Amino acid sequence: MKKVADRLAALPPYLFARIEQKIEKLQSRGIDVISLGIGDPDLPTPSHIVKALIDQAQKAENHRYPTSAGLLAFRTAVASWYRRRFGVELDPASEVVTLIGSKEGIAHISFCYLQEGDLALVPDPAYPVYGIGAALAGAEVYSLPLKGENNFLPDLSSVPVEVARKASLLFLNYPNNPTGATCDKEFFQDVVSFARHYDLIVCHDAAYSEITFDGYVAPSFLEVPGAKDVGIEFHSLSKTYNMTGWRIGWAAGNAELIKTLSSLKSNLDSGVFQAIQYAGIAALEGPQDCIEEMRRIYRERREIAVAGLKSLGWDFSLPKGTIYLWVPVPSGLTSTEFAEMVLEKSSVVVTPGIGYGKYGDGYFRISLTLATERLKEAFRRMKEAFGTLYH
Ligand SMILES: *Cc1c(COP(=O)(O)O)cnc(C)c1O
Repeated sequence: MKKVADRLAALPPYLFARIEQKIEKLQSRGIDVISLGIGDPDLPTPSHIVKALIDQAQKAENHRYPTSAGLLAFRTAVASWYRRRFGVELDPASEVVTLIGSKEGIAHISFCYLQEGDLALVPDPAYPVYGIGAALAGAEVYSLPLKGENNFLPDLSSVPVEVARKASLLFLNYPNNPTGATCDKEFFQDVVSFARHYDLIVCHDAAYSEITFDGYVAPSFLEVPGAKDVGIEFHSLSKTYNMTGWRIGWAAGNAELIKTLSSLKSNLDSGVFQAIQYAGIAALEGPQDCIEEMRRIYRERREIAVAGLKSLGWDFSLPKGTIYLWVPVPSGLTSTEFAEMVLEKSSVVVTPGIGYGKYGDGYFRISLTLATERLKEAFRRMKEAFGTLYH
C-alpha cells in the first residue's frame, strides 16, 4: 500500500483510543458503563420537523441533486431567523450558504484562505475541527489559551504583533465547547477592532447560541457593528433542534467570504438533501417552544450534575451555556490519568480535557446528554468510589 499523504500523517494522534479500549474491555465483561462523554444530544428531533422531512421526502422534485449553496427558501428562513432572533439583516442570496452541518464549512473555510506556511489563530481548548482544518490546509496554528482566570476568553492583547500580522483566520466559539463559557457583545466588539487592525478573517461558531441558562441570551457575532466587514458566523440546527444526524447548518455574514466558501463547495459537494432543507425551514419557522423545553431538561440535568460534583467536594460556579460542564481535575493528576481512574473505579466515562488542546489538560468535560437517572447513578458511583475528590 502507498504511504498516506503527509498532511494526514501530521494530524495529532487520536487521544481517546486507550480509554475506548478500556471501555470495551469493561463492557465485554458485562459491566454497565455510563458515559458522561457524549457531545451529541440524546433528545429526539421535535416531531413537526420529522414530519416535514417525511412529507418532503415523498416529492420527486426533492430527489434530484440540490444546489451546493442551498435552497434560497432555506437561506431566506435563516435570514428571517437572524432578524427575529438577533436583529441582524442578511441578504439570503449573497450572505448565507447552506452547509452539510457546520463542521463541514468550518473545515472548508481554511482551504479557502490558508495556504502552506500561513497562520491561523485557534483557541485552546477548542472543538478540534478549527485547528485540524487549518493544519490540513497546510497552515500553522497559533494557540490562544482559554484560561479560567479570563473566563475562558482569549486575551487578544497578549498575541504578539508579528503573529497577529501574519495570521489570516481567527476562530472563536461562544457559548463555548468545551468550557461552557459565554461572552458579551463588548468582547465581540474587541474582536472586530482586533480583526480590522490586523486584517484578519473572523470565523465565529455559534452552534450553542440557543442553549443558555439563567436569563443569559447569547449574542450573534454579526450583531456587532463592523462584524460583517471582517467575518462570518457558522451555525447549525444540530444542537438547537437535536438534529446532529441530519447534517444541516449554514455560514452567514460577509458576502465575499460566503462567495468564496460557496465556490469551493460547488467543486466538492452537491449540497444538502432538499427534503432536509425543507425540514430545516420547518425547524426555524415552526413553533419554538421545543427549545424552551430542551433548556428545561438540560437545566434539570445541570442541577443534578452540580449537586453530584458538590458531593465530591467541588465548589463550582455554573456556566451559562452549552450542554457541558468543564471541571478542574483534582490536583496532582493529568486529565487522562483522572479519566482512566474514574473509568476503572466507577465505570463512568468523562472526557479528558487534553482532547481539546494542551491548555485543556487541567480539566475534564461532562456532557448533560443522558437521562437524569443515569446521571444520578454516575455520581452515586463516583461518590462510592472516591468519597471526596477535592479537598
Ligand atoms: C456540535 C458542534 C457543532 C455542530 O456541528 P454540526 O456539524 O453542525 O453538527 C459546531 N461547533 C461546535 C463547537 C460543536 O460542539
